[in-house]
Amino acid sequence: MTTRFRDDFRSVDSFSDEFLVHCPECRRCAKVLTAGNVRFVCTHCGKSEMWKGSPGILTSKHPSKRDSSGRRMAWIGAEYDWFFHYPLWLQTPCCGQTLWAYNAHHLAYLEGYIAAGLRERRPNEYGWRNASYASRLPQWLKAAKNRTDVLRACQKLHTLLATLENPPHW
Ligand SMILES: [Zn+2]
Repeated sequence: MTTRFRDDFRSVDSFSDEFLVHCPECRRCAKVLTAGNVRFVCTHCGKSEMWKGSPGILTSKHPSKRDSSGRRMAWIGAEYDWFFHYPLWLQTPCCGQTLWAYNAHHLAYLEGYIAAGLRERRPNEYGWRNASYASRLPQWLKAAKNRTDVLRACQKLHTLLATLENPPHW
């Protein structure tokens, strides 16, 4: 994997350093880490996997998942991690759609954005990059009439996170 590739996907979204996902083996919460080489790690069952795919990134929701030489491509914009395409841990139904977040940082950002009703495109403490990220959020998520429902769904995602941090003792 080239450095340029890493730079490219960093610029797509600054919340992509860690994805919380469902482990395909044990169904518990695992991580896809993208600092350095992209890898999947499950601390519950020990499954781990290096990602060896195409240096391209697709933003289509319905991509063909291979490039012209048959290598798997990364793709973004749905409730899966970009690389292995495992379902995100943080997702919940909302307004007939699915609200999802890659990780705690991403959830906090989304929630702050929705709660503030921020609609302006200007540099803020997050900088321009995230302002344009916000401009790409789907309309249903930004609609004022959905704000209460979206914030309620954010709370559900917080509950999912809290369960990870303080697992119940059976
Ligand atoms: Zn596992």
